[in-house]
Amino acid sequence: MPAPAARSAAPLQPSSRLQYLPGVGPHRAARFEHLGLATLGQLVRHYPRTWLDARRFVRIGELKPGELVTVVGRVRSTAARSTRAGRTDFVALVEDDTGSLQCYFFGQPFLARTFRPGARVVVSGEMDPLEHRMLNPLFEVLEGEIETLLHAGRLVPVHALTRGITARGMRSAVRHALDAVADRLPDPLPPGLRGPDPRGAAAPGPGVPPLAEALVQIHFPDDDAALERARRRLAFEELFLLQMVMALRRRALNETGSGLVTAGEGRSAARAIEGLPYALTADQGRSLAEIVADMRREMPMHRMLLGDVGSGKTVVAFLAALHALESGLQVAFMAPTEILARQHGATLARLAAPAGVAVEVLTGATSAQDRRRIGARLDQGEPVLVVGTHALLEEKVRMPRLGLAIVDEQHRFGVRQRATLARKGVIPDVLVLTATPIPRTLMLACYGDLQVSILHERPAGRGRLVTRVAGEEKFPQVVEFLARELAAGRQAFVVVPVIEEGGRLEARAAEAEHQRLSSHPLLQRFKVALLHGRLKAEEKQRVMQAFAAGETHLLVTTTVVEVGVDVPNATVMVVENADRFGLTQLHQLRGRVGRGSERSVCVLVPSPGVTALGHERLEIMARTDDGFAIAEADLRLRGPGELWGTRQSGLPRLKLADLARDGALLDQATEAARAVVDADPWLAAPDNAVLKQVLLAGFREPLELALAG
Ligand code: ADP
Ligand code: MG
Repeated sequence: MPAPAARSAAPLQPSSRLQYLPGVGPHRAARFEHLGLATLGQLVRHYPRTWLDARRFVRIGELKPGELVTVVGRVRSTAARSTRAGRTDFVALVEDDTGSLQCYFFGQPFLARTFRPGARVVVSGEMDPLEHRMLNPLFEVLEGEIETLLHAGRLVPVHALTRGITARGMRSAVRHALDAVADRLPDPLPPGLRGPDPRGAAAPGPGVPPLAEALVQIHFPDDDAALERARRRLAFEELFLLQMVMALRRRALNETGSGLVTAGEGRSAARAIEGLPYALTADQGRSLAEIVADMRREMPMHRMLLGDVGSGKTVVAFLAALHALESGLQVAFMAPTEILARQHGATLARLAAPAGVAVEVLTGATSAQDRRRIGARLDQGEPVLVVGTHALLEEKVRMPRLGLAIVDEQHRFGVRQRATLARKGVIPDVLVLTATPIPRTLMLACYGDLQVSILHERPAGRGRLVTRVAGEEKFPQVVEFLARELAAGRQAFVVVPVIEEGGRLEARAAEAEHQRLSSHPLLQRFKVALLHGRLKAEEKQRVMQAFAAGETHLLVTTTVVEVGVDVPNATVMVVENADRFGLTQLHQLRGRVGRGSERSVCVLVPSPGVTALGHERLEIMARTDDGFAIAEADLRLRGPGELWGTRQSGLPRLKLADLARDGALLDQATEAARAVVDADPWLAAPDNAVLKQVLLAGFREPLELALAG
């Protein structure tokens, strides 16, 4: 750390600590660190969350309630006000030639030092709709030209703050940091990408500002156009870095090389296809071919098979498994829950019987004796198809000849899990099955390092699925409808939302609904079963089996208990408080009905306090059956948020890029990143030196495999 004496002499660097900024000092610098901001370089990358438009200068006499405006005037008088709550507020009266305006600040009596009577000030804010005043306006004392305003009279940046750092303090610090180091910041974009268009020098583009200018404009934009140019420049950089991570991971995966050839001629798969009671759909055939082509290569496969619930992923995965078994290798099929593992076990056993293949199920419910027997078979390297939960990986199950791992419904089967597999031998092929339709942009952003096969069409012979939105007041009709369907010999789900996972409240909500339905006069003659997260594993098992066997008619359930079960006779699903679910989740839920040939109905019941937007979202469900369209709508309405496992991906949050609207930018970034990695796989070229440094600083963990060493 430089000695205090050197402070004024040494110019500030991007790596300088914030305490050396004018007006910051060690005490404030510690506050900034709560936001993860320690250096000037980090501070200038602390982009605003949003910008307030405070440019409309208005004369005080023309102010209207509710408007967002900016006023220039002189401070006439100020006063402190004590509130009954024991707080001291501050009031400044600001006037111009047309009138005067009260500026009211909650709990900021120290502003008396800033608002001195006679001072010229600019204040921006929203006019109180009820009184002629502004509450907590943005403000600036005018000393120089009006053009140099930071805090008012412009597009004003709104930064994330923390205790002890005011909005003004933040803006001033950012301004000082920009002045000191903006044009000395290393630009991670290789020179070839800094042309007039982010794609490269040749393409005619809107004109891309250099990094320094983009940073200045993102914090203190001159106007909307400059802001958007800056945002695009920096959003492109964000997406480009993300896609660099993907491209490097993919490269690293490709060169691990210690994979196996896990598919051969596929005689048993061909025989199995002939024995199926149906023909594969074109999508199933194509996906299988893509998977098998990967498996024939020595390079480890990392592929995702994406298709709605009921699109027929299981059979495709099974056929891939046959290839591996035929090659003398072991296959692990992993489901997220015990129930699903059992169900998969049963389905696979049925599929496997004609092929003469044995399927073993290994879960918590497996007897000690079976456990020993299966363990011994696996340990000896017998080519076995073993079905279990994801715990298969962690348990002390040895699979010395593991060739293919099939992972059901675990989006992010990441680097770490692969490493677990690798320790059991060579790196096996991995096939991830998922029913979550992912918008294209998110797919690229989160899974750009995966290969993807998609099942768009659904197998023929499915009954129609109708979705209706019905408020609680329609409860009597809903029950009547349920009774009619059950009387016709069909079954139904009633889903209550999860309040707290596995908690008591959730169980109680489910119990209450079970009580309400089982005691309803119209439903008395039917068996109503109850399933929730607090039941013991065997109990869940029993309830589920009874429902699948048709012994119970109506199943009241929470989603904690995967409804991922195949009961073709179930034709009705009622989802309570449906607006509390994500659209994608609802889509997956309703996929549990409509699996047979009968017409099926999904009833979405909004919660009593549903908002207009919430209602609109449910109507989308009623209008479309296309999982991808629904996922896109979900992304637009709710943002990427916690959906689609973006959090688990270990990748940083996108600060400026918006995956709902920056699709084209993402494509450019993806293309650019792939080109860079193709040309310079280890980023050894001098032009890529800064890029490499930035990547290693920001993405060390995800890049461990790709750039280390
Ligand atoms: P997913 O796992 O994608 O939700 P499944 O593999 O469970 O879907 O398939 C759902 C149902 O569709 C199963 O009962 C399966 O037997 C059936 N099925 C699969 N492929 C076809 C096909 N090509 N034609 C007709 N039915 C099919
Ligand atoms: Mg499935």
